[in-house]
Amino acid sequence: MTTITSKLPSVGTTIFTTMSALATEVDAINLSQGFPDYECSPELIELVNKAMLDGHNQYAPMGGVMQLREQIALKTEKLYGAKYDPATEITVTAGGTQAIFTAICTVVHPNDEVIIFEPAFDCYAPAIKLMGGVVKSMELQPPDYRIDWGMVRKLVSNRTKLIIINSPHNPTATILQKEDIDELSALVKDRDIFILSDEVYEHLIYDGATHHSMARYPQLAERSFIVASFGKLFHVTGWKVGYCLAPAYLMNEFRKVHQYNVFSVNSAMQTGMAQYLADENVYLGLPFFFQQKRDHFAEGLKQTSLELLPSHGSYFQLAKYGHLSDESDIDFTLRLTREAGVACIPTSVFYSRCTDHRIIRFCFAKKQETLDNAVNRLINFKL
Ligand code: GLN
Repeated sequence: MTTITSKLPSVGTTIFTTMSALATEVDAINLSQGFPDYECSPELIELVNKAMLDGHNQYAPMGGVMQLREQIALKTEKLYGAKYDPATEITVTAGGTQAIFTAICTVVHPNDEVIIFEPAFDCYAPAIKLMGGVVKSMELQPPDYRIDWGMVRKLVSNRTKLIIINSPHNPTATILQKEDIDELSALVKDRDIFILSDEVYEHLIYDGATHHSMARYPQLAERSFIVASFGKLFHVTGWKVGYCLAPAYLMNEFRKVHQYNVFSVNSAMQTGMAQYLADENVYLGLPFFFQQKRDHFAEGLKQTSLELLPSHGSYFQLAKYGHLSDESDIDFTLRLTREAGVACIPTSVFYSRCTDHRIIRFCFAKKQETLDNAVNRLINFKL
């Protein structure tokens, strides 16, 4: 047999796939992988159906269906006051993960350094390593997981090519503040550093807080790839459609990679989504919709002995259990899944050093009934 040298020797199957599979196997309520268990709008399904019936079944343009790019431009300008040219500065991607991979592939050369903040979503580091880049990670500490910009400055070198930020943040449910934007601006000023801003949870932000999109700040937008997700916006994570915004000089390079990676994305879905996105209520209502779920779930969890951390945005609620058990967070989540019948995610998997703060992540993007059943199981289980 021919031997293969792995490009990612220490990578296994993602924790999301693993925990979702286990949840199915043991019939647990799945609050692990982040995805809704309720249906998207029937109107969106009709629009996509109609697009297929109307013959939108061949390749979309490489950058995406133009009507969709135009709607994205309108939304971005309305929300963040930023103008992105649909022709040259917006590309529709096969979900957020592909946009992130493509952006990393676009800018990272061998030995370039990329700063990431851990806990970090799992797809950043492997993409950097595949490009021959060097991951420089900085660990954030619970309960507030704030970025210590003094420490970031120490990580910056003349090889630093990219900084990856993520707000609202997966898995911690924190959000960047205006002070962070000021610090980031001061840090990159006069340096050749790009920013990859993972904003897939941009509309899932609570308590009236502002989403500090890179698009709002010209001095940052001029060097940023901004990644967004229709999966989160329309409750259709399985459709795998997202997009990337970047100034033309960056997008031009991004598309060179994109065209040979995916070429273009599902045309009927893009056509249907373009019409659906024209109604701003679709996204303006999201913070309220998810905040209700967050509050309902948190009220329920307060009846258990788990200690909740604040959730300012995203699909997620973190909870501490260290006062209840000495188990590692992986063992604890496996036991909760198998014995309590509620699947969740250990947060140590988001740290390259597997740092275990005895904190677990629940996804609350679920029907009220699902959340209530999960809470009841946790109350009945001897934690
Ligand atoms: N973003 C989702 C989560 O954090 C999972 C995405 C995936 O499974 N790759 O749960």
